[in-house]
Amino acid sequence: MTFLDFLQNFPDEKSIINYFIKVRYGETVHCPHCGSVINHLNRADKPKVFNCSACKNTFSISKGTIFEKSDNDLRKWFYAIHLFLNAKKESLL
Ligand SMILES: [Zn+2]
Repeated sequence: MTFLDFLQNFPDEKSIINYFIKVRYGETVHCPHCGSVINHLNRADKPKVFNCSACKNTFSISKGTIFEKSDNDLRKWFYAIHLFLNAKKESLL
């Protein structure tokens, strides 16, 4: 995948957040506090945060992951990971 392919697949932060949610949670997001199914989409002003209507707690989609305390966009992280995983290995000899 080239950088242009990456930009086409993930044109904005919202698209990578939705991809992350699908990979991490599947089709159904459960509240980590009470286990209720989260019916509402994440907030427009804070797209990485879900509000649970049952227990009124909020939680970050990245809670418990390496991205939890990062202020960087997920797109930057995912592209950096993509580059790392697809780098050609060259011998040092
Ligand atoms: Zn809850």
